[in-house]
Amino acid sequence: MTPNRSIRRATIVALPLLALSLASCQSPTAQAPSTPNAAEPWNWSEDVVRVAVNQVRAGRDLNPASWPGGARVAVLLSYDVDNETVYGLRTGDVSIGPLSQGQYGARVALPRIVTLMDDEQVPATFFFPAWSLKLAPEQAGVIQRSGLHEIAVHGWIHELNTTLDGVTEARLLQQAVDAIEEITGERPVGYRAPSWNHSPNTLRIVRNMGFLYESSLMHDDRPYELVQDGEATGVVELPVQWILDDAPLFNPRGSSYMNPRDVMQVWIDEFDKAWEEGTMFLLTMHPHVSGHRSRIVALEGLLDHIKAKGDVWFATHEEAARYVREQAGMD
Ligand SMILES: [Zn+2]
Repeated sequence: MTPNRSIRRATIVALPLLALSLASCQSPTAQAPSTPNAAEPWNWSEDVVRVAVNQVRAGRDLNPASWPGGARVAVLLSYDVDNETVYGLRTGDVSIGPLSQGQYGARVALPRIVTLMDDEQVPATFFFPAWSLKLAPEQAGVIQRSGLHEIAVHGWIHELNTTLDGVTEARLLQQAVDAIEEITGERPVGYRAPSWNHSPNTLRIVRNMGFLYESSLMHDDRPYELVQDGEATGVVELPVQWILDDAPLFNPRGSSYMNPRDVMQVWIDEFDKAWEEGTMFLLTMHPHVSGHRSRIVALEGLLDHIKAKGDVWFATHEEAARYVREQAGMD
């Protein structure tokens, strides 16, 4: 996941459904605007607000009474392998310097990270935009050599779902899944939206394609079932969170840069509370961000802390989704 500040999220996403809702609420003779005024949400009707909010909501809590082996907390480590896709490819604004940062991800950072995970015997899930894998397919072999890790899908070229029509969005996700399966030999069962946002069509596409789980939204710290327009979907959400993402705080040219060792302390505090509450700790990192030498130190420190605490279940996202489904009687 990498943030995109150019998206005006709620109002843009809500507009098609809001227009639909208004149209259905009006009598034939009523005088009403053809679309709700996005600039004046304080004038929206009760229905318009509720329809906007209820597009995708959290349903039942799927946090199990305990995790496998009686563990108190599940630890899920995500790596979004964006590489060149977020350095120009997703927007078409390509430039050689930024693209070189993308190749660093595949060439140096991903092998460094996988070596650490394998040495520590800690499983992880690697979410790929298909083009990241097509440009450096050797990444699949590096990830797959231990048999510990999962490869999942993170779009075609890190496209912004909210800017696409539903047909295009569905086509790109289908071809992304096909391309990843062709390279890895395994069909991904997990979906993470590029830039962590859904269009009004995204969840329907995810349901139609039969994904086991979704991991882009932020309604909770615990796993839960997604509800779409008031209907339980059977899709497990493994929620993410901006304070559990390395990209914003590790951008040396951004406005919120933090020392990696200070970031590690944020992660440790998040983990400790998850441990106390008996829930889930899901951390999203990016090889091209966290795979630098000074940052691997932060990841090593986090793993040392988690292992010293004990009573932990390290799992891929797929393993966690299957477990919570089974415990909740969803299969
Ligand atoms: Zn991403």
